[in-house]
Amino acid sequence: MLAMAAARLGFRTIILEPEEECPAEQVASSHITAAYDDAEALETLAALCSIITYEFENVPIEAARTLVQKKPVFPPPRALEVAQDRLIEKTFLKDCGIATAQFMAVDSQQQLEQALNDFGGRGVLKTRRLGYDGKGQKHFSGPQDSPAGAFAQLGHVPLILESLVPFVREISIIAARTADGVVVSYDPAENVHRDGILRRSTVPSAASPKAIEAARNAAVEITDQLNYVGVVGIEFFEMDDGSLLANELAPRVHNTGHWTEAACLTSQFEQHIRAIAGLPLGAVDRNFDCVMENLIGDEVEAVPSLLGEPATVVHLYGKKEIRPGRKMGHVTRLGARTGNP
Ligand code: AMP
Repeated sequence: MLAMAAARLGFRTIILEPEEECPAEQVASSHITAAYDDAEALETLAALCSIITYEFENVPIEAARTLVQKKPVFPPPRALEVAQDRLIEKTFLKDCGIATAQFMAVDSQQQLEQALNDFGGRGVLKTRRLGYDGKGQKHFSGPQDSPAGAFAQLGHVPLILESLVPFVREISIIAARTADGVVVSYDPAENVHRDGILRRSTVPSAASPKAIEAARNAAVEITDQLNYVGVVGIEFFEMDDGSLLANELAPRVHNTGHWTEAACLTSQFEQHIRAIAGLPLGAVDRNFDCVMENLIGDEVEAVPSLLGEPATVVHLYGKKEIRPGRKMGHVTRLGARTGNP
């Protein structure tokens, strides 16, 4: 999607990605098939590109640090470092003055039992690194959920235990920042997850004006602190009093911003390319109300009938194989725009 947006602005894109015939290859100018940390491939990429970006937060931080010695890398590697580790991320958010769930580092089964006890038996245990789409997580809803064996089940790796947040809704904000500090943000989306995977984003959200303002302000604070350049996605829990707890930040275009491609003058993808290329940001105006739904696993087989729907935009990623839980594409249904937010 970034490569498509870049092409529309006249840029060529070179992809570094280990998988052969990956989705981006279908729309990019060329593809270096190599591991993200392959020294020779990084050397070639840096030699060929004027600007380097990433759209996956598990790119090794060392690769970003190697590249930034040679060419501009946006968002800055520091943002990648913060987002890669949930403990560093939550600590960073706290230092920015942004509220989060309570959290504790957990490095052993014994620490887990102590921490869970401190949270009254309720909490969400997550791997600090490399978790996504609900992978590497375990929910405890009360004393009936025993933590026995949980440290081993999650692979004997560093963990974080968060308090279980009784949120009324989940929202996210997609923002963009330029190198000279201009920040814009789209209308927040209201998100529904199932099994830790995003199912649906609805815009406008039912979030309170107070929550929307807090989300926009948090985006400015976070991106300023990181001297950020590009698009960021930040997910929040909204509480019943309209206050927000930040859950996580993604230093990249974000699944909860895919709707912008169908409903906005400038999509998050084009916005990211503009920001990293030092071009003026585009308007974030929303032309429609909309609901974006992910097509997960064999749901993608409904595409012929989805294409028959009026006011529906279908986007398939061109993945070679359908697998359960795999995001194969998304669909955005548009409706008449109502008042903002
Ligand atoms: P994450 O990988 O942190 O985005 O978590 C995936 C989903 O799990 C979130 O979108 C929430 O629906 C749920 N979740 C994560 N952390 C918490 C928490 N501390 N309290 C309640 N629900 C959570």
